[in-house]
Amino acid sequence: MDQGGRTRRQLVKAGLGGAAGMMLGAPVVRLAAAPRQAAAPQPVPGAGVTGTPLRLSEDLFVVRLPGEANVVARTGAGGVLLVDGGSAAASDALLKTVAALPGGGPVHTLFNTHWHPEQTGSNEQLGRLGAAIIAHENTRLWLATDVTWPWNGQRFKRLPKIAQPNQTFYDAGRPLPSSTASAVRRELGVRYGYIPDAGHTDGDIYVYFPEQNVLAVGDTVSGQGWPVVDWTTGGWIGGIVGALQRLQTLANEDTRIVPGRGPVLTLADLKAQSEMYGTIYDRLTQLLNKGRGPSEAVAAQPTKEFDARMGNPDEFVRRAFESLWAYLSPDA
Ligand SMILES: [Zn+2]
Repeated sequence: MDQGGRTRRQLVKAGLGGAAGMMLGAPVVRLAAAPRQAAAPQPVPGAGVTGTPLRLSEDLFVVRLPGEANVVARTGAGGVLLVDGGSAAASDALLKTVAALPGGGPVHTLFNTHWHPEQTGSNEQLGRLGAAIIAHENTRLWLATDVTWPWNGQRFKRLPKIAQPNQTFYDAGRPLPSSTASAVRRELGVRYGYIPDAGHTDGDIYVYFPEQNVLAVGDTVSGQGWPVVDWTTGGWIGGIVGALQRLQTLANEDTRIVPGRGPVLTLADLKAQSEMYGTIYDRLTQLLNKGRGPSEAVAAQPTKEFDARMGNPDEFVRRAFESLWAYLSPDA
């Protein structure tokens, strides 16, 4: 996938010019040398503990179906706007729930915050119904190709054309200073834009509802447990730190921030997470600079003081460490 590859290389340059610059002297280990270990599925704390839709304002809801990622729904006379669409298995239930919301109805617009199947499972159904599906161009590219996660062999089939985003944008021709948001798009009563740090994937976007002061950020922020660091499609631990800093510039004290999983967060939560991941990033880069590998990084317990609250960190630490390799490898 040429374009995706170019994108990642651009991000590598961006990363090396920024926070990762300190690692330039580190031993560079080719990605292909990364050990391929089977990952035990991580239990999601609190999974299944869901209730009725959470009402954030007159016309804005977080729909939380059992075991599913958060979906943000804005109702209106012209229909419903969704940020993320749950998994394919839950798509029917989701669209029924959305239609039954106060002021609910058919969906005219769906944003994909990134390509993962937990967010794009309603694309096919809504695409067939003629909805606008808006995403970053990298998200469309990942959805148009088969993806395999090397760490556990999990395969993701490409989506049919009708299910792929049909309105994409691409703002990341060059790295942006971390203190600024990328080009902001204003339409449909929302502002949205690219989060070019690659905190989760290389196609992450946010959607901000200015009237309601609600910021939907997908899995770029985890509200529940350790995140998946999907370095196969561009995510990395330095990007988590960068994205958390960038998103703070889009929020104020009253903004309600809806992550991909878990409860609604505040600016204070973003600050706390930013510090935590910054600490972990520093520790992992120190281990990398000492020539350590992922298993040694896990053994060093770089997340020790956070584990009681966050859960077993082993898979997260392993993926986060591998993501540093991915960003330092010339072929990544
Ligand atoms: Zn995700």
